[in-house]
Amino acid sequence: MYYSDCHVHSFFSSDSKTEPRDHVERALQLQMDSLCFTDHMDFDYPSRYKLSFRLDQEAYFPFMEKLRREYEGRIRIRSGVEIGLETAYQKQISEYILSYPWDFAIGSVHLVGRLDPYHKDFFEGRTVEEAYRSYFEAILSCLETFDPIFDTLGHLDYIFRCGDRSITDAWSQWPELMDAILHLLIEKGIGLEVNTGGIKSGLPFQHPHDNLLLRYRELGGELITLGSDAHTPDHLGDYFIPTGEKLKALGFRYYAVFAGRKPSFLPL
Ligand SMILES: [Zn+2]
Ligand SMILES: [Zn+2]
Repeated sequence: MYYSDCHVHSFFSSDSKTEPRDHVERALQLQMDSLCFTDHMDFDYPSRYKLSFRLDQEAYFPFMEKLRREYEGRIRIRSGVEIGLETAYQKQISEYILSYPWDFAIGSVHLVGRLDPYHKDFFEGRTVEEAYRSYFEAILSCLETFDPIFDTLGHLDYIFRCGDRSITDAWSQWPELMDAILHLLIEKGIGLEVNTGGIKSGLPFQHPHDNLLLRYRELGGELITLGSDAHTPDHLGDYFIPTGEKLKALGFRYYAVFAGRKPSFLPL
């Protein structure tokens, strides 16, 4: 049995063209027991970036329900969301998450001060250190602001996919800031996502970096989720086997998969 993938994008995300059925077929080939779609929903994503990241939840749920019935007994299909966290939209985001029957909700920071680190303008007029730090400060203030309306924090050190490699890892650079983030996750019962999505674009580690995973474990953290962030079926479950081995070596024994917002723990 292959690890279940709990971070997957389909044509319900504005940056993917994948028919959900193609992901399901690939998951069956890999012998996954379950697959959780987590399409993007970002409130008020800046129009200059030419993507909307609005999820059409009225179409999404019936579509996923039909797919679930079609594949019943072969694979468990779950309907999740990757919600973009921004403190300015706390009320709308919280209401949105609480209004629909998600199986799983990933909270991810995609914007800091209306800028997306994926684009060059994020880094203009400041040093790499300042730009990177602003990303982690935004995560900390989201964790301080939001109730635990989401289940796991997506791709914690995502910013390392975007800038240069002059800083090796977040834990070595900003230990106090990173400790504050990890402590809040544990305190609020929010999981930490292990996301292998950056490796395909040349990042030498999964999100988050080994040092952060180790620190999280040292602080008593054990609620981890696993996702490839695949936007196409060929990346589904990417690098899960070596990542699972690494997680075991770092002291983790289980990962969580969610249904109806409730975790089940599966052995690594
Ligand atoms: Zn994301
Ligand atoms: Zn994603």
